[in-house]
Amino acid sequence: MKRLVLQELSYPELAEHLDEIELAMVPTGSQEQHGPNLTFATDTDRAYELAKLLGEKFFPRVLICAPVTYGISHHHMNFPGTITLQPETFSNILVDIAKSIKHHGINKILFQNAHGGNRSALGVAITRIQFELDMQAAWIGSGTDLSSDFWKEKGLSEIRGHACEGEVSQCMYLAPWLVKEQKLERGKLKKTPYQKRRWWGNVPWKFDHLTENGALGDATKATRELGEEMTQLILKRIGWFISEYFFNEPAPEENKLD
Ligand SMILES: [Zn+2]
Repeated sequence: MKRLVLQELSYPELAEHLDEIELAMVPTGSQEQHGPNLTFATDTDRAYELAKLLGEKFFPRVLICAPVTYGISHHHMNFPGTITLQPETFSNILVDIAKSIKHHGINKILFQNAHGGNRSALGVAITRIQFELDMQAAWIGSGTDLSSDFWKEKGLSEIRGHACEGEVSQCMYLAPWLVKEQKLERGKLKKTPYQKRRWWGNVPWKFDHLTENGALGDATKATRELGEEMTQLILKRIGWFISEYFFNEPAPEENKLD
């Protein structure tokens, strides 16, 4: 399958297609603990591999840029190895990337995010990019936030979203090098109000207050098949968004939503 992935191209190869590119996609991840189940590269590689599949779907109209490999992970700092940026640093990086994209004549940018901790700063960045740089900007998730109905239907863990069966399954399908197959553990949840999931406020939870081993959900239930099914659904939903919002045209039959 053909795709335009910046890290796989020379500049003359890119230049051949520059006129056809309408949208730049930038994956955003983290360097963050994922329990015993997955490596520190999880969010970055998961976002990047998903973005590459979208690059194939939309060749040559979408350019896939290199991922932002660090994110906002203050809430995981009590687990060894996690590295965090400050929210301002992270959003400034995204704005700088957008400026460069615009310099090369591409006026639309979509951040493909795979890390929950980045959400608020992504909101700040797309607001600045849209209104200060006069570009069309958005961000979209890569996992559970795009498939909660699917999770319900499959009867998977209610407390999920990090190193859980969903994320591990998606990695088994998209980026199996991230998965510690022999070490998979169910999340060892601590008793906190977080588990009630009935909140009207937003709280910056610390992960070591929520879980002993750094995981949520139950990674022992993860399968490649589940990951494939979930990823295909997510690709369809992101595909719909790209067509309808960025290209202002009806989504192709394969991405039509019910
Ligand atoms: Zn993750």
